[in-house]
Amino acid sequence: MQTSFTATQLADPAMATSEKILRTCVHCGFCTATCPTYLLLGDELDSPRGRIYLIKDMLEGGKPATPEVVKHVDRCLSCLSCMTTCPSGVHYMHLVDHARTHIEETYRRPLSDRLLRSVLAFVLPYPNRFRLALLGAKIGGPFRPLVARLPRVGNRLAAMLDLAPALLPNRNPSDRPGTFPADTRAREASALLQGEPMPGRAGRVAILRGCAQSVLRPDFNEAAIRLLTRHGVEVVQAQGEGCCGAITHHMGKADTAHATARRTIDAWIAEMDGAGLDAIVVTASGCGTTIKDYGFMFRDDPAYAAKAARVSAIAKDVTEYMAGLGLMPPIVTSDLVVAYHSACSMQHGQGIRTEPKSLLKTAGFTVKDVPEGHICCGSAGTYNILQPEIAGRLRDRKVANIERMRPDVIATGNIGCATQIGKGTAIPIVHTVELLDWATGGPKPAVLEEAHVLHAAE
Ligand code: SF4
Ligand code: SF4
Repeated sequence: MQTSFTATQLADPAMATSEKILRTCVHCGFCTATCPTYLLLGDELDSPRGRIYLIKDMLEGGKPATPEVVKHVDRCLSCLSCMTTCPSGVHYMHLVDHARTHIEETYRRPLSDRLLRSVLAFVLPYPNRFRLALLGAKIGGPFRPLVARLPRVGNRLAAMLDLAPALLPNRNPSDRPGTFPADTRAREASALLQGEPMPGRAGRVAILRGCAQSVLRPDFNEAAIRLLTRHGVEVVQAQGEGCCGAITHHMGKADTAHATARRTIDAWIAEMDGAGLDAIVVTASGCGTTIKDYGFMFRDDPAYAAKAARVSAIAKDVTEYMAGLGLMPPIVTSDLVVAYHSACSMQHGQGIRTEPKSLLKTAGFTVKDVPEGHICCGSAGTYNILQPEIAGRLRDRKVANIERMRPDVIATGNIGCATQIGKGTAIPIVHTVELLDWATGGPKPAVLEEAHVLHAAE
């Protein structure tokens, strides 16, 4: 694609990067075939190629964002399916991130929109505030029909109420800074059998505590910590760590996102320079995609560029890390059929496609792929609140595809997907690590107990 940025414009590193990205696009349109919004809306401007043209025009002209550009960029899920499809390697993620920042800086949204976005940015990244908001949503639940009728924001406020869980889980006792020692018994027993010298621990990792996930499904990280320590890994939750910044980053609020990310980077660097870390393990693939991109996000920040790159270099999804470690033989035999839902951030953002399924199969589960698995479920950070109609249609489509497989349980690696899909089906939904933990000696996932899902041994 030809571009005509001025030399002055290209002196801005963000603009220079976007110009390079734009030049790699050859307008072939292959990406349109796998774009969820194009699939649903059939409008070229709601396809990756259409958005690339809109963004090019906006940036090149040095113009403030127009309502038309904002509408189509806002409708993008940042699912990155287009990046998987694109034969030219167009880095759409960095381009749309830049566009969202430009929109935030140059476009004045209607007051209701600004208020809603500010509330989301103020609440979601902070577990205590989020917990309070969910309690408020519980009280507001009965007023949903009235709320939904409010002009401009009613449908989005109603979507927020719909996403709030009926029961708020108790606080996770392991959700605190500290160290969870490695349990090396299994490794030692195996070495004894093989006549090998006694091994030490298998590694030392930091785990992202997360923000929304720690409130909605604390069982995800509890299972991950048990699984890792049982496999001989010492796990640390770093002092001072906060939100990774993904939520506000995707809203174009670059300054807020960078501020929270810096705090988390500092916490992990202190661990890396102290007792050392082999990996930073993440149980929410949406967060993992952002953390792996820190090196890029902070490339022009002299104080953080090197630190951010170090963090990104050792960030791993928990299934990616476990695949490298190898899963111990299962001690619970299960005949459960698992529909594996691959989050967009997992498959398109991080390119992790086989590891979660291989681990589940090694653990003895029957794993089924979901038809149209490359299409987003509509969660996408705050998308299911800000664009509830499109998100709802995508969820219905995803749930129909999953239910067609008649699984006993759905497994995924992202809290957003678990919440979004869980609101559309009665099939229990768990994190992949909950099943791996159960198979190798942990408790049966609570949602399976609640749904009375049985397996062969019961
Ligand atoms: S597939 Fe890639 S090169 Fe082709 S139009 Fe889409 S982004 Fe451009
Ligand atoms: S990120 Fe997803 S929704 Fe956005 S243009 Fe690409 S495929 Fe379409």
